[in-house]
Amino acid sequence: MRYGLLSDIHGNLEALDAVLEAMAGERIGHYLCLGDIVGYGASPNACLDRVTGLTTDVIAGNHDHAAIGKLDISTFNPYAAEAALWTRQQLTPDGRRYLGDLPYVRRIDDLFVVHASPARPEEWTYLTSPWQADEAFEAMPDGVALCALGHTHAPLIFEKPNAKDRSRQIPPTALELASERRYIVNVGSVGQPRDGDPRAAYCVYDTEMKLIEVKRVPYDLEAAQRKIRKAGLPDLLAERLELGR
Ligand code: ZN
Repeated sequence: MRYGLLSDIHGNLEALDAVLEAMAGERIGHYLCLGDIVGYGASPNACLDRVTGLTTDVIAGNHDHAAIGKLDISTFNPYAAEAALWTRQQLTPDGRRYLGDLPYVRRIDDLFVVHASPARPEEWTYLTSPWQADEAFEAMPDGVALCALGHTHAPLIFEKPNAKDRSRQIPPTALELASERRYIVNVGSVGQPRDGDPRAAYCVYDTEMKLIEVKRVPYDLEAAQRKIRKAGLPDLLAERLELGR
């Protein structure tokens, strides 16, 4: 099986369509969406339509909850809060219900998916350090070799060699999974990358080859920026797309 993993679309339809086009040539057998379909970008409803047409294996992100009032946005920065309120006005009743019903985690065979961290998924912590990875590996269900997540918008891999050794961070390149080890892979962001590379990110997990790879694809960034400005969303949300920050 080849899984197609996408996360943090954030209402960026241009990036999502470029990723879906690239993934169409990847022999993907099953798609999974790791949350934050909406928030920041100007096309929340169109992105929701694309995702619901693609897969039922979708989990909640913090911006999905913020957009329906399920998460308090007082901790959001002013730009994120403004975008959340704008998105709230755009969503259809069906869209709101759909986002509100999404689970925090899913398990498909030996693959576990969560938006932020397997350790207390509903707290939306940023998993960026080996000690946080240790805690996350502890929280992963038995028999799960790989956890895929998003949330930070930057691809990242943690490896746990065995039960007693600490987690270590390894470069987010194509990786062959060793059968006795466990892994956490951050698949990056489709619609708002923050690792300095403005290209949209997606991930392919091939269970036969035991290979996981985060890939990048360019998209019509100017079109996404124009829509953000036309919608009256904060200009910074358009600017950051070309910076990949
Ligand atoms: Zn996000």
